[in-house]
Amino acid sequence: CGIVGYAGSVKTACGKPLEVCLQGLKRLEYRGYDSAGVALTAPGMGHVEVRKKAGRLANLVDDIEAHPMPDATVAIGHTRWATNGAPSDSNAHPHTSMDGKVAIIHNGIIENASQLRLDLQAEGYHFTSATDTEVAAKLLGKIVDIVIAEKGEPDLFEAIRRLARMLEGAFTILAVDERQPGIVVGARHDSPLVVGLGDGENFLGSDVAAFVAYTKRAMEVDQDQCVCISADDVTITDFFGNVVDNPVVFTVDWD
Ligand code: GLU
Repeated sequence: CGIVGYAGSVKTACGKPLEVCLQGLKRLEYRGYDSAGVALTAPGMGHVEVRKKAGRLANLVDDIEAHPMPDATVAIGHTRWATNGAPSDSNAHPHTSMDGKVAIIHNGIIENASQLRLDLQAEGYHFTSATDTEVAAKLLGKIVDIVIAEKGEPDLFEAIRRLARMLEGAFTILAVDERQPGIVVGARHDSPLVVGLGDGENFLGSDVAAFVAYTKRAMEVDQDQCVCISADDVTITDFFGNVVDNPVVFTVDWD
């Protein structure tokens, strides 16, 4: 199971977000996986575009070559090691909110997913997969809408903090929202997450292998922290929004 995230600007677009995700997933192949998928969005796109396939990464790459995906500013990519639900196209990540505006990828196991799923079903939410991850996706979509109602504007970073406080188990989660096409946000508990610092672009990975082809400057996201990357900024907080000042930057010692 591997995770990649990329945030650039309209200037760095031209397919780079997708290229970074596919290249990163290739580098993470050694971790083993049974399905792969990507999600991307850009200003004015109006939705999050998701593509995912069971089997080898080559299946996903072939599908994208046959049916190209649009240009983007942000993207997330995932290779899955199935724990909840068989390896299949529908169980592959990313998973989306009910309205398709938010997409997430996840490594780990959400222990309270069954109860959360029952609660959401009672509220009328429908599920198209057997995964614990889709429960987090539907719940994040609901939280995003609550945050918009409270603040009058979307705040995916705040929404993922609230999600992280509700989940039990192990998770690294990355999310994108078509209403904020310049950021990728993440959260981690008992599962790794690393930031790659670029020039006018930033990266996320479950491992530095995800982005080492593009930058060797990196920063660890620690236990029970959330992160928000954009083309020019990286912010790390705890699950309650307290900002981590001066996180340690290290250089990846790797050829
Ligand atoms: N529990 C999730 C699933 O089964 C994520 C597995 C993973 O870490 O790849 O889809």
